[in-house]
Amino acid sequence: MKLVFATNNAHKLEEVSAILKAEILSLNDIGCHADIPETADTLEGNASLKSAFIYNNYHTDCFADDTGLEVEALNGAPGVYSARYAGGEGHDSEANMRKLLHELEGKENRKAQFRTVISLILDGKEYQFEGIVKGEILHERRGEAGFGYDPIFRPEGYDRSFAELGNEVKNRISHRARAVAKLSEFLKTVSDSSRDSLKG
Ligand code: IMP
Repeated sequence: MKLVFATNNAHKLEEVSAILKAEILSLNDIGCHADIPETADTLEGNASLKSAFIYNNYHTDCFADDTGLEVEALNGAPGVYSARYAGGEGHDSEANMRKLLHELEGKENRKAQFRTVISLILDGKEYQFEGIVKGEILHERRGEAGFGYDPIFRPEGYDRSFAELGNEVKNRISHRARAVAKLSEFLKTVSDSSRDSLKG
């Protein structure tokens, strides 16, 4: 099975290819250099927009993901706006973490979760898969590994931040790993049943 993953993020491609037993092509691989719209106000909406864009323009089976950090005391913010929480073009992790720590100053409740939504389009039909990891926001940055909010997120059941735990542990328990595991299970069922129907 050949699937396009609507990303050029090498880290994500490597993580996902290791789990899925399918040939994964990136946006570069299919010559897509477009600015794919991410204008929805939910993770589900953005994941759908991205997969629909690929399907409508390239007519190929594909999937896209969208992730957000949802903080309970902030009513789910930064959520879908996690990449550009501190404003500007986005992806300024230092500024995003600084803003989040500031917003939580004096708040007792520091519960948070990372949530990933994957939108898969197979034979023109959409399926969604969700992965969640619960935890809390620390009072200061800890650790060097990972990216984004990793230094200030401590997953439940661990006493270290994602950035201290490192990629090997993180990639086993993360929101993205959980969503991809569900996608993988689903693809397995689909390929098993198409094999069975060929037999039958
Ligand atoms: P994306 O949808 O995967 O691009 O994620 C959007 C934003 O959420 C990123 O720019 C990061 O700020 C944050 N984020 C997503 N996944 C992670 C993660 O695994 N660790 C820390 N931050 C993340």
